[in-house]
Amino acid sequence: MLHTAMIGIGAARQNGPFAMTHDCVRRLLKQMTEDDPGDTGRAELEAAFEAIWLEHGPWEHGYAEHYRALGSKLLDSLHRQLNGRTSMSSAAIPVHQGGLELLVHAEDSWSGGGERVLRRIRTGSGGMDDMSVGPALLLLAAQEGAGTGRAEVVSLTDDAVHSVDLKPTKLRNRVKTLGEFGEQIRQGSFPATGKAEDCPRCPHWFACGRLPRGDLALGAG
Ligand code: SF4
Repeated sequence: MLHTAMIGIGAARQNGPFAMTHDCVRRLLKQMTEDDPGDTGRAELEAAFEAIWLEHGPWEHGYAEHYRALGSKLLDSLHRQLNGRTSMSSAAIPVHQGGLELLVHAEDSWSGGGERVLRRIRTGSGGMDDMSVGPALLLLAAQEGAGTGRAEVVSLTDDAVHSVDLKPTKLRNRVKTLGEFGEQIRQGSFPATGKAEDCPRCPHWFACGRLPRGDLALGAG
């Protein structure tokens, strides 16, 4: 944070038209979890997206038409994955694992047949990273309290639903990793683990971690 303020790169992160289009879909997802317009259909979904697009989308870009078409394609996938629903029931479920108390969020959730289903909806592509603790937490949240539950990750770009299907050994290993994270947090250790896909979108834009030794003289020169 201090790096960012000192070097003055706070504004370095600028979303391109592709990221802005995905951001518009994410805003729509958020809106759908907050309002309940009822099952109003695909056309109303498009109209709600258009309002967001005109406020936040790259509508002035030279290739705006293509990005708008991409937005509609993502909406097609969303509409299919929701089976025509235009509202979602988000969930925030407390999970107690690895010595931590965490609040796990899901964009969509429902219960039926004695089980809870939690869905995380991603606008991007790619399957579930079963080495990450995120999907494991979603599954644990689905099973919290109820005992039985399913977790799914929807990828709108791929128009696919990935079931979080972790075998008990893998689930135990992810809980163990969570416990290690908890220990690091308690010790105040937050090592930066830069990733090619995360750092370009981070407000610190690659500049983070330990500060160099020495005195800081502001306004010098
Ligand atoms: S490692 Fe990358 S994503 Fe993490 S704080 Fe640093 S710049 Fe941001």
